[in-house]
Amino acid sequence: MKKTSFLTLEKAKRIIQDIPTPFHIYDEAGIRKNARALKEAFSWNPGFKEFFAVKATPNPYILQILQEEGCGCDCSSYTELLLAEAVGVTGHEIMFSSNVTPEQDMRKAYELGAYINLDDATHVEFLARVADKVPETVCLRYNPGGSFSLGNTIMDMPRDAKYGMTEDQMAGAINRLMALGTKHFGIHAFLASNTTTNEYYPELAANLFRLAVRLRNATGAHIAFVNLSGGVGVDYRPEQPCCDIRTIGEGVRARYEQILTPNGMGDIAIFTELGRFMLAPYGHLVSTVLHQKHIYREYVGLDACAADLMRPAMYGAYHHITVLGKEDAILDHVYDVTGGLCENNDKFAIERSLPHIEIGDILVIHDTGAHGHSMGYNYNGKLRSAEVLLREDGSHMLIRRAEKPADYFATFDGTPFKFGN
Ligand SMILES: *Cc1c(COP(=O)(O)O)cnc(C)c1O
Repeated sequence: MKKTSFLTLEKAKRIIQDIPTPFHIYDEAGIRKNARALKEAFSWNPGFKEFFAVKATPNPYILQILQEEGCGCDCSSYTELLLAEAVGVTGHEIMFSSNVTPEQDMRKAYELGAYINLDDATHVEFLARVADKVPETVCLRYNPGGSFSLGNTIMDMPRDAKYGMTEDQMAGAINRLMALGTKHFGIHAFLASNTTTNEYYPELAANLFRLAVRLRNATGAHIAFVNLSGGVGVDYRPEQPCCDIRTIGEGVRARYEQILTPNGMGDIAIFTELGRFMLAPYGHLVSTVLHQKHIYREYVGLDACAADLMRPAMYGAYHHITVLGKEDAILDHVYDVTGGLCENNDKFAIERSLPHIEIGDILVIHDTGAHGHSMGYNYNGKLRSAEVLLREDGSHMLIRRAEKPADYFATFDGTPFKFGN
């Protein structure tokens, strides 16, 4: 499918008068529409809830929009818990899915009354030590080992992953927690990332539903929810097939009715912790062409760099690029589109066919709404960009200012050095 931007050149120019590039911009209308489609797809399950993976887009304005659409927060660290708390997301609106958990983080999650998702069986005693009393409901993260396949395709290798615990360890953890006073349990697994097939969630769900039945039979415990975690992907490439959330929801429902309902477990709530699916397509990185050079290849140099969007440099990830105002021009030039880091992997696109580009052109890099700004860093003294919200009424709003040199130098406070602005 052809990828189009939610920005036009005119709209972008108006925003840029106010907020200079580079910046990430989020489309409120798109975020809300998609969140509603997810809710609708799982409306057959009365307890369904999405806990947005905060790490994908840790901005309180975004969390608030999602909260208004009925989503909670999936947090993995102390600071992410503070973010959730700041927007009034507390208690069972929070899923705390962390690993290698520091004591301070565990205590904060407990104090907020979050659902705590234990990454390991040894964390039962850890939680019991931190908490006055173990929570009434506790979630356990599962690692099935081996490989995880859909049909003939190996999706990932759980046996090589650091997360979760074995089935025996889960049964042991449940027995111990019940002895300490826990009454209800959740089970969780994240077995493949950025999947673009409608079969991932249903297959994962079938595995977890069967596990729920076995654990209930082995321990007598009440399983209250199954957390399908993240992993539903988006079509970064225009020619890629796209997930259909309605089909995914129906696929999970079929497994639910096959496995859980006949076993008297039809009260189980389905939870999700989607990040990418909720936000990636509804964010763009907007950047201006600063320079061009012609050596062995043609280069277009932007005011954004890998510090604003790490995925291409880190994973070789494809992000589609639109040159605003040239949406319909023929793609008769081949460019490497780069940032200014002193790292040759700082390329948003390599040998990409694009329309003829001039200095001052405004480029939109697509699908940066999740794992974009949040993976930013300060290498080469680059400062993190602003974040902007394009509201439903078409107006724009700065929801995080760009960093200033003073922010970069803030952690040298208490030293004798003086920095300019
Ligand atoms: C990263 C992560 C998610 C979100 O993953 P997406 O691929 O963005 O959907 C959810 N849960 C956990 C535990 C994660 O680590």
